[in-house]
Amino acid sequence: MSEKNVFQKIMAGEIPADIVYEDEECLAFRDIAPQAPTHILIIPRKAIRSVAELEDEDGPLIAHLWKVIREVAEQSGLGEGYRVVVNCGRDGGQEVDHLHYHLLGGRSLQWPPG
Ligand code: AMP
Repeated sequence: MSEKNVFQKIMAGEIPADIVYEDEECLAFRDIAPQAPTHILIIPRKAIRSVAELEDEDGPLIAHLWKVIREVAEQSGLGEGYRVVVNCGRDGGQEVDHLHYHLLGGRSLQWPPG
């Protein structure tokens, strides 16, 4: 079996994380290098490497992740707005090969991104 990536180690409890929400299907924890006052990563427990590898059967899981994103945003006081980013592949800037949503907020975010 290939070595676990950093998010798989967090899910296994092998390295610490500042977890703000978890349930049977997903986990949300603070990014170790925050790009905004609030920067939380939401990940499915299911081993999905990226958006590019999603399958039709993942529909209910994705709907659940968006529900969790909304709830975590609300609990984090992001009533003025926020941004959700999903990097995919090398050109998309994805560094960890496990599907994750970046929830960013707490300041006015610029557009377009780099
Ligand atoms: P991406 O570039 O979209 O793959 O995002 C990976 C994110 O994981 C980056 O924002 C990193 O700062 C974050 N990250 C890497 N290692 C950790 C860790 N141990 N705990 C929390 N966040 C991490």
